[in-house]
Amino acid sequence: MFKKFTGDDHFPYKVELHVHLDGTMRPQTIFETAKRRGIQLPTKTVAELHDYLLVKKTQDLETLLRSFRTFMPVVAGDRDAVYRMAYEFCETCSKYNIKYAEARYSPHLLANTFAKPYYALETGSYSPRDVVTTVSEALVNGCRDFNVNVKSILCCYRDTPAWSLEVAELCRDFKADGVVGIDVAGPEHLCGKDSPHIAAYLDAERNGIHRTAHAGEVTPAETIYEALDDMHAERIGHGYSCINNADLYRRVKRDRIHLETCPISSIMTGGAPNGKINHPITRLAQDGVNFSISTDDPNVLDNNILDDYSVAMDMGLTRQQIIQSIFNAAQSSFSSDKEKKVMLEELTKVYGDQSV
Ligand SMILES: [Zn+2]
Repeated sequence: MFKKFTGDDHFPYKVELHVHLDGTMRPQTIFETAKRRGIQLPTKTVAELHDYLLVKKTQDLETLLRSFRTFMPVVAGDRDAVYRMAYEFCETCSKYNIKYAEARYSPHLLANTFAKPYYALETGSYSPRDVVTTVSEALVNGCRDFNVNVKSILCCYRDTPAWSLEVAELCRDFKADGVVGIDVAGPEHLCGKDSPHIAAYLDAERNGIHRTAHAGEVTPAETIYEALDDMHAERIGHGYSCINNADLYRRVKRDRIHLETCPISSIMTGGAPNGKINHPITRLAQDGVNFSISTDDPNVLDNNILDDYSVAMDMGLTRQQIIQSIFNAAQSSFSSDKEKKVMLEELTKVYGDQSV
């Protein structure tokens, strides 16, 4: 386990780029929704559920997957649960001074219109398009009520390429409603040249949708090369293995390719085999690489963004390097030029000038 941060928040303006919306659903919300829907949970109280969902050992991907299998059926296919999850995320951002965030999710994993829904317990009429409509509405209302700016990124799922063209279509159709990017999540194998994932990314690019991709967290550099060269990704989710490939690492530095790092997630689920020791982000910070720090899946990792900053500092990062990572996040965010300019001005007011 990592040590929870207990001090004061000395980072009054934060930007978070890599967080899975379903990985933010609160135990209380899961518990109450299950009760309302008559869905059996493996525990009797909210506290027990919270404990049950947590990944407690390092490199424990199995528990993480079990937790998703526990709570995803509670939210999938239910409009009110999806709405509440997205709305409450805005409240969480406000609590931790995250002024701008990009939350990602797979519309398909939360829908129930398939003959065999992935998570929902039965087939219904709540489509991937309905999911995006719900999340977009909840984020607009949440942003207004909690005075934050939260955009969304729609995820393709590596194991189900058949969904990807619809993901690209939804990105396009909801561009005016706060969807800013496309992502691919799930087990990190190569997509392959003829994959619909690639076609979806190219479609997104043609339609002015930004692109990030989970790659190189637990796999070698090839998945990062594929993300950059075939999928035209602008940012990489995790991407740690780039440091083991000299050519790629040079390119990441030269082209200022943004790496969305998640320190606690990488320790708890296997992206960092040595835990905090020689963690890739120490090297990224030393080499002035363009990276940011995010939480990934706080409801199963029990982390908040201050815990991640604190763990990064335990790894050797300085406060100044954390601040630099916040500027990097703003600079490489998928917000509009106008929003980015305002964000960078506000950051400069709070932290002083940083050349990015
Ligand atoms: Zn992720």
